[in-house]
Amino acid sequence: MNAASPDICVVGGGIIGLATACELAGRGLRVTVVEAASIGERAAAGVAAGMIGPVSEVDVSHPDLTRFALASHRDYPAWIEQIEAVSHIRTGFDRTGTLWVAVHRDHVAWLEHLRAFQIDRGLNTIRLTAGEVRAREPLIAPNTSGGLLASDDWQVDPRRLLGALIEVLAQYHGTLLQQVSVERVERCDEGWAVVAGGERGRTRIEARSVLLAPGAYGTGLLEPLLRDTGLRPVKGQVARLRGEIDVHHVIRTPDVYLVPRADGEVVIGATVEEMGFDGRVTAGAVHDLLREARRALPGIAELELVEVRAGFRPVLRDHLPAVGRIDEGLFIAVGHYRNGVALAPITARLLADLICEGVADQILAPFNPLRFAQPLVANAVPT
Ligand SMILES: Cc1cc2nc3c(=O)[nH]c(=O)nc-3n(C[C@H](O)[C@H](O)[C@H](O)COP(=O)(O)OP(=O)(O)OC[C@H]3O[C@@H](n4cnc5c(N)ncnc54)[C@H](O)[C@@H]3O)c2cc1C
Repeated sequence: MNAASPDICVVGGGIIGLATACELAGRGLRVTVVEAASIGERAAAGVAAGMIGPVSEVDVSHPDLTRFALASHRDYPAWIEQIEAVSHIRTGFDRTGTLWVAVHRDHVAWLEHLRAFQIDRGLNTIRLTAGEVRAREPLIAPNTSGGLLASDDWQVDPRRLLGALIEVLAQYHGTLLQQVSVERVERCDEGWAVVAGGERGRTRIEARSVLLAPGAYGTGLLEPLLRDTGLRPVKGQVARLRGEIDVHHVIRTPDVYLVPRADGEVVIGATVEEMGFDGRVTAGAVHDLLREARRALPGIAELELVEVRAGFRPVLRDHLPAVGRIDEGLFIAVGHYRNGVALAPITARLLADLICEGVADQILAPFNPLRFAQPLVANAVPT
Protein backbone atom coordinates (compact mmCIF):
# COMPACT_ATOMS: atom_id res chain seq x y z
CA MET A 1 0.00 0.00 0.00
CA ASN A 2 1.34 3.47 -0.78
CA ALA A 3 0.37 7.08 -0.14
CA ALA A 4 -1.86 7.09 -3.23
CA SER A 5 -3.82 4.00 -2.12
CA PRO A 6 -7.46 4.68 -1.29
CA ASP A 7 -8.80 3.99 2.18
CA ILE A 8 -11.59 1.98 0.60
CA CYS A 9 -12.27 0.47 -2.80
CA VAL A 10 -15.93 0.07 -3.74
CA VAL A 11 -16.61 -2.65 -6.31
CA GLY A 12 -19.73 -1.75 -8.32
CA GLY A 13 -20.99 1.64 -9.44
CA GLY A 14 -24.71 0.98 -9.09
CA ILE A 15 -26.93 3.06 -6.83
CA ILE A 16 -25.79 1.17 -3.70
CA GLY A 17 -22.06 1.36 -4.46
CA LEU A 18 -22.16 5.01 -5.52
CA ALA A 19 -24.38 6.16 -2.65
CA THR A 20 -22.09 4.50 -0.11
CA ALA A 21 -18.95 5.76 -1.83
CA CYS A 22 -20.29 9.34 -1.64
CA GLU A 23 -21.18 8.96 2.03
CA LEU A 24 -17.68 7.66 2.82
CA ALA A 25 -15.95 10.33 0.74
CA GLY A 26 -18.09 12.97 2.46
CA ARG A 27 -16.72 11.71 5.79
CA GLY A 28 -13.17 12.28 4.54
CA LEU A 29 -12.14 8.81 3.33
CA ARG A 30 -10.19 8.42 0.10
CA VAL A 31 -12.54 6.34 -2.05
CA THR A 32 -12.10 4.56 -5.38
CA VAL A 33 -15.14 3.10 -7.15
CA VAL A 34 -14.52 0.40 -9.76
CA GLU A 35 -17.31 -0.24 -12.28
CA ALA A 36 -17.20 -2.97 -14.93
CA ALA A 37 -19.31 -1.02 -17.46
CA SER A 38 -20.29 2.66 -17.75
CA ILE A 39 -22.39 4.04 -14.92
CA GLY A 40 -26.05 3.20 -15.58
CA GLU A 41 -25.30 0.81 -18.44
CA ARG A 42 -25.65 -2.41 -16.42
CA ALA A 43 -26.87 -0.95 -13.12
CA ALA A 44 -30.51 -1.69 -12.33
CA ALA A 45 -31.01 1.97 -11.44
CA GLY A 46 -30.45 2.78 -15.12
CA VAL A 47 -33.79 1.08 -15.78
CA ALA A 48 -35.63 1.43 -12.45
CA ALA A 49 -38.75 3.53 -11.99
CA GLY A 50 -37.48 5.15 -8.80
CA MET A 51 -40.49 4.66 -6.56
CA ILE A 52 -39.78 5.21 -2.87
CA GLY A 53 -42.75 3.22 -1.66
CA PRO A 54 -42.49 1.55 1.74
CA VAL A 55 -46.28 1.73 2.13
CA SER A 56 -47.10 0.37 -1.33
CA GLU A 57 -44.52 -2.42 -1.12
CA VAL A 58 -45.66 -3.65 2.28
CA ASP A 59 -47.39 -6.83 1.11
CA VAL A 60 -44.26 -8.09 -0.65
CA SER A 61 -41.84 -7.07 2.12
CA HIS A 62 -40.75 -8.90 5.25
CA PRO A 63 -41.52 -6.74 8.35
CA ASP A 64 -37.76 -6.21 8.89
CA LEU A 65 -37.50 -4.88 5.37
CA THR A 66 -40.46 -2.55 5.86
CA ARG A 67 -38.76 -1.17 8.99
CA PHE A 68 -35.56 -0.63 7.01
CA ALA A 69 -37.48 1.01 4.16
CA LEU A 70 -39.27 3.36 6.54
CA ALA A 71 -35.94 4.39 8.06
CA SER A 72 -34.59 5.07 4.57
CA HIS A 73 -37.73 7.04 3.75
CA ARG A 74 -37.07 9.27 6.78
CA ASP A 75 -33.53 9.91 5.49
CA TYR A 76 -34.59 10.64 1.91
CA PRO A 77 -35.44 14.37 1.92
CA ALA A 78 -32.24 15.44 3.68
CA TRP A 79 -30.15 13.01 1.63
CA ILE A 80 -31.51 14.43 -1.65
CA GLU A 81 -31.08 17.99 -0.42
CA GLN A 82 -27.43 17.30 0.28
CA ILE A 83 -26.82 15.57 -3.08
CA GLU A 84 -28.51 18.35 -5.03
CA ALA A 85 -26.64 21.04 -3.08
CA VAL A 86 -23.24 19.48 -3.72
CA SER A 87 -23.84 18.34 -7.31
CA HIS A 88 -26.07 21.20 -8.53
CA ILE A 89 -28.10 18.50 -10.33
CA ARG A 90 -31.85 18.09 -9.81
CA THR A 91 -32.77 14.49 -9.12
CA GLY A 92 -36.50 14.65 -9.87
CA PHE A 93 -37.34 13.89 -6.22
CA ASP A 94 -41.10 14.34 -5.96
CA ARG A 95 -43.37 13.96 -2.94
CA THR A 96 -46.79 14.18 -4.64
CA GLY A 97 -47.63 10.64 -3.51
CA THR A 98 -48.94 7.40 -4.97
CA LEU A 99 -52.48 6.70 -6.08
CA TRP A 100 -53.59 3.07 -6.29
CA VAL A 101 -56.59 2.68 -8.58
CA ALA A 102 -59.00 -0.17 -9.24
CA VAL A 103 -59.85 -0.53 -12.93
CA HIS A 104 -60.72 -4.26 -13.00
CA ARG A 105 -63.36 -5.99 -10.92
CA ASP A 106 -60.75 -8.03 -9.03
CA HIS A 107 -58.66 -4.94 -8.25
CA VAL A 108 -61.12 -3.88 -5.54
CA ALA A 109 -60.55 -7.03 -3.49
CA TRP A 110 -56.82 -6.79 -4.12
CA LEU A 111 -56.66 -3.22 -2.81
CA GLU A 112 -58.57 -4.30 0.31
CA HIS A 113 -55.93 -6.99 0.82
CA LEU A 114 -53.16 -4.38 0.45
CA ARG A 115 -54.88 -2.00 2.85
CA ALA A 116 -55.27 -4.76 5.45
CA PHE A 117 -51.50 -5.33 5.31
CA GLN A 118 -50.88 -1.62 5.65
CA ILE A 119 -53.15 -1.27 8.65
CA ASP A 120 -51.60 -4.35 10.24
CA ARG A 121 -48.15 -2.71 10.01
CA GLY A 122 -49.41 0.65 11.24
CA LEU A 123 -49.02 2.38 7.87
CA ASN A 124 -51.18 5.09 6.52
CA THR A 125 -53.29 5.05 3.34
CA ILE A 126 -56.62 6.68 2.64
CA ARG A 127 -59.43 4.83 0.89
CA LEU A 128 -60.88 6.88 -1.99
CA THR A 129 -64.17 6.63 -3.89
CA ALA A 130 -64.14 6.75 -7.68
CA GLY A 131 -65.08 10.43 -7.54
CA GLU A 132 -62.26 11.18 -5.11
CA VAL A 133 -59.75 9.38 -7.34
CA ARG A 134 -60.81 11.40 -10.36
CA ALA A 135 -60.88 14.62 -8.38
CA ARG A 136 -57.17 14.06 -7.67
CA GLU A 137 -56.27 12.78 -11.16
CA PRO A 138 -59.02 13.65 -13.69
CA LEU A 139 -57.37 11.61 -16.46
CA ILE A 140 -57.77 8.28 -14.65
CA ALA A 141 -60.11 5.92 -16.54
CA PRO A 142 -63.79 6.80 -15.98
CA ASN A 143 -64.60 3.19 -15.05
CA THR A 144 -62.40 3.27 -11.94
CA SER A 145 -64.23 1.99 -8.90
CA GLY A 146 -62.03 3.70 -6.32
CA GLY A 147 -58.56 3.54 -4.92
CA LEU A 148 -56.06 4.18 -2.15
CA LEU A 149 -53.88 7.21 -1.59
CA ALA A 150 -50.39 6.54 -0.20
CA SER A 151 -49.32 10.14 0.18
CA ASP A 152 -45.99 9.19 1.76
CA ASP A 153 -44.86 7.05 -1.19
CA TRP A 154 -42.61 9.26 -3.32
CA GLN A 155 -40.42 9.01 -6.38
CA VAL A 156 -37.01 10.08 -7.69
CA ASP A 157 -35.47 9.81 -11.16
CA PRO A 158 -32.78 7.12 -10.72
CA ARG A 159 -30.85 8.14 -13.84
CA ARG A 160 -30.58 11.72 -12.66
CA LEU A 161 -29.70 10.44 -9.20
CA LEU A 162 -26.84 8.34 -10.59
CA GLY A 163 -25.57 11.40 -12.48
CA ALA A 164 -25.76 13.52 -9.35
CA LEU A 165 -23.91 10.91 -7.28
CA ILE A 166 -21.07 10.80 -9.83
CA GLU A 167 -20.76 14.57 -9.44
CA VAL A 168 -20.87 14.37 -5.63
CA LEU A 169 -18.10 11.77 -5.69
CA ALA A 170 -15.99 14.04 -7.88
CA GLN A 171 -16.64 17.04 -5.59
CA TYR A 172 -15.49 14.93 -2.62
CA HIS A 173 -12.29 13.98 -4.53
CA GLY A 174 -13.30 10.34 -4.99
CA THR A 175 -12.01 8.33 -7.96
CA LEU A 176 -14.28 6.53 -10.40
CA LEU A 177 -12.84 3.86 -12.71
CA GLN A 178 -15.26 2.68 -15.41
CA GLN A 179 -14.88 -0.28 -17.82
CA VAL A 180 -12.77 -2.07 -15.22
CA SER A 181 -14.05 -5.47 -14.21
CA VAL A 182 -12.99 -6.84 -10.83
CA GLU A 183 -12.02 -10.50 -10.97
CA ARG A 184 -11.31 -11.14 -7.30
CA VAL A 185 -10.39 -9.65 -3.96
CA GLU A 186 -7.50 -11.05 -1.97
CA ARG A 187 -5.79 -10.26 1.27
CA CYS A 188 -2.68 -8.08 1.18
CA ASP A 189 -0.34 -6.79 3.89
CA GLU A 190 -2.48 -3.98 5.28
CA GLY A 191 -5.91 -4.83 3.96
CA TRP A 192 -7.33 -6.08 0.70
CA ALA A 193 -6.30 -6.02 -2.95
CA VAL A 194 -8.85 -5.71 -5.72
CA VAL A 195 -7.63 -7.42 -8.89
CA ALA A 196 -9.27 -6.26 -12.09
CA GLY A 197 -8.99 -6.42 -15.85
CA GLY A 198 -10.32 -4.07 -18.49
CA GLU A 199 -9.66 -2.17 -21.69
CA ARG A 200 -6.57 -0.57 -20.14
CA GLY A 201 -5.04 -3.86 -19.00
CA ARG A 202 -4.76 -5.33 -15.54
CA THR A 203 -5.29 -3.23 -12.41
CA ARG A 204 -4.49 -4.01 -8.80
CA ILE A 205 -5.81 -1.65 -6.14
CA GLU A 206 -4.79 -2.10 -2.54
CA ALA A 207 -6.92 -0.54 0.17
CA ARG A 208 -7.48 -0.89 3.89
CA SER A 209 -11.10 -1.85 3.20
CA VAL A 210 -13.20 -3.12 0.32
CA LEU A 211 -16.95 -2.87 -0.18
CA LEU A 212 -18.53 -5.29 -2.63
CA ALA A 213 -21.68 -3.84 -4.22
CA PRO A 214 -21.89 -5.83 -7.46
CA GLY A 215 -25.68 -6.20 -7.74
CA ALA A 216 -26.97 -9.26 -9.57
CA TYR A 217 -23.60 -9.72 -11.28
CA GLY A 218 -21.77 -10.65 -8.08
CA THR A 219 -21.95 -14.45 -8.03
CA GLY A 220 -18.31 -14.94 -9.03
CA LEU A 221 -17.06 -12.43 -6.45
CA LEU A 222 -19.26 -13.73 -3.67
CA GLU A 223 -18.75 -17.47 -4.13
CA PRO A 224 -15.34 -17.66 -2.42
CA LEU A 225 -16.68 -15.59 0.49
CA LEU A 226 -20.26 -16.71 1.21
CA ARG A 227 -22.01 -19.95 0.34
CA ASP A 228 -25.51 -20.57 -0.92
CA THR A 229 -26.57 -16.93 -1.16
CA GLY A 230 -28.71 -17.82 -4.16
CA LEU A 231 -27.81 -14.44 -5.70
CA ARG A 232 -29.64 -14.14 -9.01
CA PRO A 233 -31.08 -11.55 -11.39
CA VAL A 234 -34.83 -10.97 -11.56
CA LYS A 235 -35.54 -9.41 -14.93
CA GLY A 236 -37.80 -6.39 -15.23
CA GLN A 237 -38.95 -4.85 -18.51
CA VAL A 238 -39.93 -1.19 -18.51
CA ALA A 239 -41.32 1.15 -21.18
CA ARG A 240 -40.61 4.88 -21.23
CA LEU A 241 -43.05 7.30 -22.85
CA ARG A 242 -42.70 11.02 -23.37
CA GLY A 243 -45.09 13.88 -23.99
CA GLU A 244 -47.56 16.17 -22.30
CA ILE A 245 -49.98 14.54 -19.91
CA ASP A 246 -51.47 16.22 -16.87
CA VAL A 247 -50.77 13.57 -14.23
CA HIS A 248 -48.88 14.14 -10.99
CA HIS A 249 -49.15 11.10 -8.72
CA VAL A 250 -47.41 7.80 -9.24
CA ILE A 251 -50.32 5.67 -10.46
CA ARG A 252 -50.44 1.98 -9.53
CA THR A 253 -52.83 -0.87 -10.14
CA PRO A 254 -52.16 -4.47 -9.10
CA ASP A 255 -50.99 -5.06 -12.71
CA VAL A 256 -48.85 -2.05 -13.61
CA TYR A 257 -47.37 1.23 -12.41
CA LEU A 258 -46.99 4.58 -14.17
CA VAL A 259 -44.45 7.08 -12.89
CA PRO A 260 -44.90 10.57 -14.39
CA ARG A 261 -41.95 12.93 -14.17
CA ALA A 262 -41.96 16.71 -14.27
CA ASP A 263 -39.81 16.62 -17.45
CA GLY A 264 -42.52 14.78 -19.45
CA GLU A 265 -41.25 11.22 -19.04
CA VAL A 266 -43.72 8.50 -18.00
CA VAL A 267 -42.17 5.22 -16.86
CA ILE A 268 -44.37 2.15 -17.18
CA GLY A 269 -43.38 -1.08 -15.46
CA ALA A 270 -42.55 -3.66 -14.79
CA THR A 271 -42.36 -7.37 -15.47
CA VAL A 272 -40.95 -9.73 -12.84
CA GLU A 273 -39.25 -12.61 -14.67
CA GLU A 274 -36.93 -15.45 -13.71
CA MET A 275 -34.99 -15.49 -16.98
CA GLY A 276 -31.38 -15.14 -15.84
CA PHE A 277 -29.44 -12.41 -17.66
CA ASP A 278 -31.74 -12.38 -20.69
CA GLY A 279 -31.72 -8.72 -21.69
CA ARG A 280 -34.21 -9.03 -24.55
CA VAL A 281 -37.34 -6.94 -24.51
CA THR A 282 -40.33 -8.95 -25.69
CA ALA A 283 -43.44 -8.01 -27.63
CA GLY A 284 -45.76 -9.77 -25.20
CA ALA A 285 -44.37 -8.04 -22.12
CA VAL A 286 -44.48 -4.58 -23.70
CA HIS A 287 -47.99 -5.22 -24.99
CA ASP A 288 -49.20 -6.26 -21.53
CA LEU A 289 -47.58 -3.28 -19.80
CA LEU A 290 -49.03 -0.77 -22.27
CA ARG A 291 -52.47 -2.41 -22.23
CA GLU A 292 -52.71 -2.31 -18.44
CA ALA A 293 -51.28 1.22 -18.29
CA ARG A 294 -53.81 2.42 -20.87
CA ARG A 295 -56.65 0.83 -18.89
CA ALA A 296 -55.69 3.00 -15.93
CA LEU A 297 -54.77 6.14 -17.85
CA PRO A 298 -56.21 6.12 -21.40
CA GLY A 299 -54.38 9.34 -22.33
CA ILE A 300 -51.01 7.61 -22.50
CA ALA A 301 -51.98 6.29 -25.94
CA GLU A 302 -51.08 9.72 -27.34
CA LEU A 303 -47.56 9.77 -25.87
CA GLU A 304 -44.41 8.84 -27.75
CA LEU A 305 -42.88 5.46 -26.93
CA VAL A 306 -39.21 6.36 -26.56
CA GLU A 307 -37.57 3.37 -24.91
CA VAL A 308 -38.11 -0.21 -23.84
CA ARG A 309 -35.41 -1.80 -21.73
CA ALA A 310 -34.80 -4.67 -19.34
CA GLY A 311 -32.88 -4.52 -16.07
CA PHE A 312 -31.87 -7.02 -13.43
CA ARG A 313 -32.93 -6.75 -9.80
CA PRO A 314 -30.37 -8.40 -7.51
CA VAL A 315 -32.08 -10.87 -5.19
CA LEU A 316 -30.75 -13.30 -2.56
CA ARG A 317 -32.21 -16.66 -1.56
CA ASP A 318 -34.32 -15.21 1.29
CA HIS A 319 -35.30 -12.02 -0.59
CA LEU A 320 -33.58 -9.82 2.02
CA PRO A 321 -30.48 -7.74 1.30
CA ALA A 322 -27.06 -8.54 2.75
CA VAL A 323 -25.52 -5.40 4.27
CA GLY A 324 -22.57 -5.68 6.61
CA ARG A 325 -19.14 -7.06 7.29
CA ILE A 326 -17.87 -10.40 6.03
CA ASP A 327 -14.34 -10.17 7.36
CA GLU A 328 -11.97 -7.60 8.87
CA GLY A 329 -12.03 -4.73 6.36
CA LEU A 330 -14.30 -6.55 3.90
CA PHE A 331 -17.90 -5.37 3.53
CA ILE A 332 -20.84 -6.18 1.30
CA ALA A 333 -24.11 -4.55 0.21
CA VAL A 334 -26.10 -6.66 -2.21
CA GLY A 335 -29.58 -8.09 -2.81
CA HIS A 336 -31.75 -4.97 -2.56
CA TYR A 337 -34.10 -6.59 -5.09
CA ARG A 338 -37.12 -4.32 -5.84
CA ASN A 339 -36.08 -1.54 -3.47
CA GLY A 340 -32.48 -0.52 -4.05
CA VAL A 341 -33.31 3.05 -5.00
CA ALA A 342 -35.57 3.43 -1.97
CA LEU A 343 -33.02 1.82 0.37
CA ALA A 344 -29.93 3.66 -0.87
CA PRO A 345 -29.74 6.42 1.80
CA ILE A 346 -30.07 4.12 4.82
CA THR A 347 -27.73 1.53 3.33
CA ALA A 348 -25.10 4.19 2.63
CA ARG A 349 -25.37 5.85 6.03
CA LEU A 350 -25.33 2.70 8.14
CA LEU A 351 -22.57 1.06 6.12
CA ALA A 352 -20.48 4.21 6.50
CA ASP A 353 -21.07 4.08 10.29
CA LEU A 354 -19.94 0.46 10.28
CA ILE A 355 -16.89 1.07 8.09
CA CYS A 356 -15.75 4.29 9.79
CA GLU A 357 -16.71 3.63 13.41
CA GLY A 358 -17.15 -0.15 13.60
CA VAL A 359 -20.71 0.32 14.85
CA ALA A 360 -23.50 -1.82 13.35
CA ASP A 361 -26.96 -0.36 13.89
CA GLN A 362 -29.46 -2.91 15.25
CA ILE A 363 -31.73 -2.38 12.25
CA LEU A 364 -29.05 -4.13 10.15
CA ALA A 365 -29.16 -7.35 12.21
CA PRO A 366 -31.61 -9.23 9.89
CA PHE A 367 -29.42 -8.34 6.91
CA ASN A 368 -26.15 -9.65 8.35
CA PRO A 369 -24.33 -11.28 5.42
CA LEU A 370 -22.97 -13.95 7.76
CA ARG A 371 -26.44 -15.54 7.84
CA PHE A 372 -25.04 -17.23 4.74
CA ALA A 373 -22.42 -19.82 5.57
CA GLN A 374 -18.79 -19.05 4.89
CA PRO A 375 -16.80 -21.59 2.87
CA LEU A 376 -15.49 -24.46 4.96
CA VAL A 377 -12.07 -24.29 3.32
CA ALA A 378 -10.04 -21.91 5.48
CA ASN A 379 -8.04 -20.47 2.59
CA ALA A 380 -10.98 -20.08 0.21
CA VAL A 381 -10.22 -16.37 0.12
CA PRO A 382 -6.86 -16.28 -1.69
CA THR A 383 -4.07 -15.03 0.54
C1 LIG B 1 -37.39 -2.80 -13.87
C2 LIG B 1 -36.89 -2.38 -12.52
C3 LIG B 1 -37.65 -1.48 -11.79
C4 LIG B 1 -37.21 -1.09 -10.52
N1 LIG B 1 -37.93 -0.17 -9.83
C5 LIG B 1 -37.51 0.22 -8.60
C6 LIG B 1 -38.21 1.21 -7.90
O1 LIG B 1 -39.20 1.76 -8.38
N2 LIG B 1 -37.77 1.55 -6.65
C7 LIG B 1 -36.66 0.97 -6.09
O2 LIG B 1 -36.31 1.30 -4.96
N3 LIG B 1 -35.96 0.03 -6.75
C8 LIG B 1 -36.36 -0.36 -7.98
N4 LIG B 1 -35.68 -1.32 -8.68
C9 LIG B 1 -34.60 -2.03 -7.98
C10 LIG B 1 -33.30 -1.24 -7.96
O3 LIG B 1 -33.05 -0.70 -9.22
C11 LIG B 1 -32.17 -2.16 -7.51
O4 LIG B 1 -32.48 -2.77 -6.28
C12 LIG B 1 -30.88 -1.38 -7.33
O5 LIG B 1 -30.64 -0.55 -8.43
C13 LIG B 1 -29.71 -2.34 -7.12
O6 LIG B 1 -28.55 -1.56 -7.03
P1 LIG B 1 -27.12 -2.19 -6.80
O7 LIG B 1 -26.17 -1.06 -6.79
O8 LIG B 1 -27.15 -3.11 -5.62
O9 LIG B 1 -26.88 -3.18 -8.02
P2 LIG B 1 -26.73 -2.86 -9.58
O10 LIG B 1 -27.64 -1.83 -10.01
O11 LIG B 1 -26.80 -4.17 -10.30
O12 LIG B 1 -25.26 -2.28 -9.72
C14 LIG B 1 -24.15 -3.09 -9.55
C15 LIG B 1 -23.03 -2.54 -10.40
O13 LIG B 1 -21.85 -3.28 -10.11
C16 LIG B 1 -21.16 -3.51 -11.30
N5 LIG B 1 -20.35 -4.71 -11.13
C17 LIG B 1 -20.80 -5.96 -10.90
N6 LIG B 1 -19.78 -6.82 -10.81
C18 LIG B 1 -18.65 -6.09 -11.00
C19 LIG B 1 -17.27 -6.41 -11.02
N7 LIG B 1 -16.84 -7.68 -10.86
N8 LIG B 1 -16.37 -5.42 -11.23
C20 LIG B 1 -16.79 -4.13 -11.37
N9 LIG B 1 -18.09 -3.77 -11.36
C21 LIG B 1 -19.01 -4.74 -11.18
C22 LIG B 1 -22.25 -3.70 -12.36
O14 LIG B 1 -21.76 -3.44 -13.65
C23 LIG B 1 -23.29 -2.69 -11.90
O15 LIG B 1 -23.14 -1.44 -12.53
C24 LIG B 1 -36.04 -1.67 -9.97
C25 LIG B 1 -35.27 -2.54 -10.72
C26 LIG B 1 -35.68 -2.90 -11.99
C27 LIG B 1 -34.83 -3.82 -12.82
